[in-house]
Amino acid sequence: AKKGGGSVASYDNSRDAGSTDQLTLLAELREALAVEDQLQLALQPAVDLATGAPTGVEALVRWLHPRRGLLTPADFIGPVEHSEQLGAFTRYVLDKALAVAAGWARDGLDVPISVNISARSLLDPRLPAEIAEALRRHDVPPRRLVLEITETVMMSELEVVDEVLGALRALGVQIAVDDFGTGFSSLTFLTRVPVDEVKVDRSFVIRMADSPEAAAIVRTTVGLAHELGLRVVAEGVETAEQRIALAELGCTAAQGYHFFKPMPADKISAVLGSLLDS
Ligand code: C2E
Ligand code: CA
Ligand code: CA
Ligand code: CA
Repeated sequence: AKKGGGSVASYDNSRDAGSTDQLTLLAELREALAVEDQLQLALQPAVDLATGAPTGVEALVRWLHPRRGLLTPADFIGPVEHSEQLGAFTRYVLDKALAVAAGWARDGLDVPISVNISARSLLDPRLPAEIAEALRRHDVPPRRLVLEITETVMMSELEVVDEVLGALRALGVQIAVDDFGTGFSSLTFLTRVPVDEVKVDRSFVIRMADSPEAAAIVRTTVGLAHELGLRVVAEGVETAEQRIALAELGCTAAQGYHFFKPMPADKISAVLGSLLDS
């Protein structure tokens, strides 16, 4: 009301159009979560740079929308994160991921699955109990689940986040810091949150070859992670040059199109099986 003025009015109009669209999207999500198999997981292995063995598999959500076609997280995750459906969405993705992990266990594949958790989900005190229940239901050991979180949680209500993360750790699930180095307080984060794994953001991997600064950041992150006893995974590796440079900087694991693109659930078991055999 304070803002007033014609230009603001037209801005508001365009925003109204945007939010109508978001409301439609969120209504459609409600349906997708309730009735149909529209939300699926694309699965992307990370590999050990020395042996090629899989170190884990990340679950990346896809929405096979009946009218809009294949949607990636960029198309819908923002509105979902700000809606009251975030809890249901997070539970849905976790449930699907644990079903996949339970299948691997039956096939004798001992590989952890990583699930991306929105910062705002860590403000929900019910999350740890929900995850504990889902792990029991699928009979998956907690260590087989890795929760990928970003440093943006540092910006939110720390008391709740600390409590939720503490409860998750007590449960025995693993925590990974996603997009490491892109937040405002990467180093502080590592001292506050007990993590198991650090994921070096793709932006550093891309710039590594041309930028001594980016290379120094990767080398320092790898050194710090190892000194703290954490695993480190480089994201978005697309070329052999990047793979070799990462190995030279001491990085031990990586993920990216150079190794595997995200693949459907029905393909992954065979891929993991062959990686573990060789
Ligand atoms: P992220 O966690 O950083 O995931 C990595 C993204 O990079 C994925 O995009 C993946 O498909 C893509 N990627 C992997 N390797 C390469 C590569 O070599 N080159 C390039 N250019 N890209 C590569 P995607 O699947 O579109 O996901 C985007 C983001 O959406 C994720 O970024 C994550 O933050 C979020 N996200 C994905 N699934 C979920 C989910 O289930 N829940 C939540 N809350 N967020 C999710
Ligand atoms: Ca991730
Ligand atoms: Ca990431
Ligand atoms: Ca990223």
